[in-house]
Amino acid sequence: MSVPTAAADQSVCAPLPVLGRDVTVPLVTGGEVTYAALDYAASAPALQRVWDDVAAYAPYYGSVHRGAGYLSQLSTDLFENARRTVAEFLDCRTGDQVVFTRSTTDSLNLLAAALPDGCEVFVFETEHHASLLPWRDARVTYLDAPDSPRRAVETLEHALAGRDPHGPALVCVTGASNVTGELWPVRELAAAAHAHGARIVLDAAQLAPHHPVSVRELDVDWVAFSGHKLYAPFGSGVLAGRSDWLREAEPYLAGGGASRTVTRRADGGVDVEWHDSAARHEAGSPNVIGAYAVASACKALTEAGFDTLIAREEQLIRTVREGLADVPEVRFLSLFGDAPRVGVLSFVVEGWNSSHFAAALSAEYGIGVRDGLFCAHPLVRTLLGSDPQSQGECGAPEAAPGEKSLNAIRVSFGAGT
Ligand code: PLP
Repeated sequence: MSVPTAAADQSVCAPLPVLGRDVTVPLVTGGEVTYAALDYAASAPALQRVWDDVAAYAPYYGSVHRGAGYLSQLSTDLFENARRTVAEFLDCRTGDQVVFTRSTTDSLNLLAAALPDGCEVFVFETEHHASLLPWRDARVTYLDAPDSPRRAVETLEHALAGRDPHGPALVCVTGASNVTGELWPVRELAAAAHAHGARIVLDAAQLAPHHPVSVRELDVDWVAFSGHKLYAPFGSGVLAGRSDWLREAEPYLAGGGASRTVTRRADGGVDVEWHDSAARHEAGSPNVIGAYAVASACKALTEAGFDTLIAREEQLIRTVREGLADVPEVRFLSLFGDAPRVGVLSFVVEGWNSSHFAAALSAEYGIGVRDGLFCAHPLVRTLLGSDPQSQGECGAPEAAPGEKSLNAIRVSFGAGT
C-alpha cells in the first residue's frame, strides 16, 4: 500500500510559531527528520508567544492575594487580569465567574461536585470520558449516539420532555468531538435544555482552540477547557459561567484562599465563612503562571483571528482527506457524515492494527499521531461497529485481513501545523 501526497494550498496563512517545530527525531531506517506533530487534540505545542510572555513574567514572580510586597501585588494583578482576559475570550455575561482549574477534567469534576441536590444529568454516550464520567453521584441519563446534529437535538428534547421541569437538571455536551472533530449543534442543544428548565455545560476542550466560543451567543451556562490544548503549557484549565450553583456549593477543595474567615467556636469546633467568588473553588496557592499562560494564548488566538485559523485547518483537513482518498483500506470515522469539523480526523486502515500503523508512522516517517479509543470508548466502538463490551484501548489484538479494526488512528492539527 503506498500513500499518495496532496499538494498544500499555498494561499492559506502560515502557521503560528510554536515550541518544538524544529525538533529532529531519529528514524529506524537511519538518518533523522523534522518531527511532524499531528496530535494537537491530545496536547497542542505551546505558542512561542505564550512561552515568551511567561518568560517576561518570570522576574515578577510572587505569591498572589496574601502578600503585601510589590511583587505579590503585581502577581495578583496579573492573575486577576488573566481571569478578565479569559472572560473576554469566552464572551462571558456580567456576573459569570471564571474559575482556574487544572484541566477540563478538573473543571467538569468541580461542576459535578457543585450540582444541587437531586440534579439530573443528561449526557450523550459519545462524550469524552472527562464529560461522560464525573456525574456518577447524580441521576445520569446516557443518550444514544445520534447520526446527525438534528437527531442530537431531537434525542435531547425527547429525553428532557420526560423529566420533572421543576427539579434541577444539567446537560453536558462537547462542542467538537475529540474523535471525529465534528461540531455539535451547541446553540440548539442549549435552547432545548433551557426550554425544559435544564442547564447546559459546554466541554470546549476541542472547540476553544479552533473556534470562537461565545457564552452569550451560544447561551450555555458553563464552559470548560484546558490550557494545554489551547497552546499553553500543561496544568491549567478553566470553568467559566453562572455563579449561583458555584456560590451555593461546598468548596471543591477546602483550605486557605477559599475561606474568608475561620473562627474557633466556644464548643471547640471551627466555623468557616467561604468566599462567594471564584476563589471559593481555588483553595491553596493557585497556578498563577498557568493562568497567565492561558490568558496569553487567548490573546494570541484572538489576535491571529479565528477566521484565518479555521481557513488553515480546513485546508489541512482537505490535504489529509485528498491524500488518503486513493487508499481503499482507509475508512474515516464520522457520526454526522460530511459535517463541519475542527482539525481532527480519525480513521482505520482495514486489516491493520492501528497501533502498529501509528508506531510505523512515528518510527519510519517521524509523524506523531495517536491510536486507540481516545478516552471515548463507547463512541469509538460505535464508529468501528465493534462489540460494545470489548476490552480497553491498550494491547488490542491485530485485526486479521478483512476483519474490523479494534481501535483507530487520529491525526489532529492546529495553529502551529
Ligand atoms: N473533553 C474533550 C473533548 C477532550 O478531547 C479532552 C481531552 O482530550 C478532555 C475533555 C479532557 O481534557 P484534559 O485531559 O485536559 O482534562
